[in-house]
Amino acid sequence: MTAAPVTEKNHRDVWVFAEIQDHERVLEGALELITRGRELADALGERLCALVFALEAERYLPVVAQYGPDIIMYASDPALKHYDSRVVPDLLAGLVRDHRPSILLFPSTEAGADLAPRLAARFATGLTAHCTGLAVADHPEYGAGLLLMKRPAYGGNAIATVVCPKARPQMATVQQGVFVKKERTDIHARIIQVPFAAGRADGRIESLEAPLRWDKPAVPLEQAQVVVAGGRGLGSKKNFDRLYELAGLLGGETGATRVPVFNRWCGEERMIGQTGKTIRPRLYMGFGVSGQIQHTASIVESGIIVSVNSDPDTPIAEMSDYVVTDDAASVLDALIERLKAEKRD
Ligand SMILES: Cc1cc2nc3c(=O)[nH]c(=O)nc-3n(C[C@H](O)[C@H](O)[C@H](O)COP(=O)(O)OP(=O)(O)OC[C@H]3O[C@@H](n4cnc5c(N)ncnc54)[C@H](O)[C@@H]3O)c2cc1C
Repeated sequence: MTAAPVTEKNHRDVWVFAEIQDHERVLEGALELITRGRELADALGERLCALVFALEAERYLPVVAQYGPDIIMYASDPALKHYDSRVVPDLLAGLVRDHRPSILLFPSTEAGADLAPRLAARFATGLTAHCTGLAVADHPEYGAGLLLMKRPAYGGNAIATVVCPKARPQMATVQQGVFVKKERTDIHARIIQVPFAAGRADGRIESLEAPLRWDKPAVPLEQAQVVVAGGRGLGSKKNFDRLYELAGLLGGETGATRVPVFNRWCGEERMIGQTGKTIRPRLYMGFGVSGQIQHTASIVESGIIVSVNSDPDTPIAEMSDYVVTDDAASVLDALIERLKAEKRD
């Protein structure tokens, strides 16, 4: 049932959904978002609350606490081992109803993309998806504490600033990698365990196991304005995983040749080429990609092509606007560090 809209007057505090990835670690994007949430809460003079719902949730609380929430609300139960859309939206909606946060933020993941719209519909409020920037401001007409949500618009040709002037909570999902996580040793979080009635799920579906990584692009590769793609030359899954961070920093998506998909470094949704996706980004960057026709036929419409390869004569060099002749993993690391440093300054 849809609740009546509420006004900004009786809502305060910033909440962040601290998603647990692969039931073994706090998602990096959640820690980045808690860091940004801390800054927003400070600017508003309000509290920051992080939400942890998981099997053995207590394990994750020390990590979450390092990033400066005033409060951590958690629920711990076997029913929370995997994200379950029959369970988590009810749990979170109950808390939102009781505590009335003003801002509610989620990482842009499969779970975030399921949970956030369900909550927005229940509270008849607005949601901005895949944000790449967040700030707060006062507005002469709409009052104090307005969340300014930035995201690409018009196929990436413009950056829109979206506001949710009247309804609360103001809600956003945020691309991973756009904020830099920062520890805060000066704040000691109050830990609150929230009641959770396990077994509320209707029992028609039982979740036995879930894939370890929900590796589906948040934005379909065909629509992404920036695609950073990896090939065999990255050498390992560990190196390939760094592409996700670069994609986040550039507001783009991660793609692959057939080799990383076959090696199970990433999901098949990310394969570009004859048997994969055809892309038309403004910027394509290939790391350790040779440029076989089955791949390159599907990237020719890219605006700018950059290739990083240890072999200067590899076929992709011929169609590239910029060629970097070097070790792909090292260039990837250097680029990430440089972009992070620029964001800090
Ligand atoms: C019917 C068919 C359909 C296909 N469909 C697709 C498809 O849809 N998509 C697709 O991608 N492929 C497809 N393929 C496979 C395709 O032919 C190529 O095998 C594949 O694209 C090659 O991937 P790659 O560039 O990652 O690997 P490789 O061709 O092995 O190239 C690796 C590159 O990494 C470089 N390198 C090595 N070490 C380093 C280092 N340390 N630093 C930097 N560079 C380094 C090498 O110089 C080389 O250029 C298909 C093949 C067939 C037969």
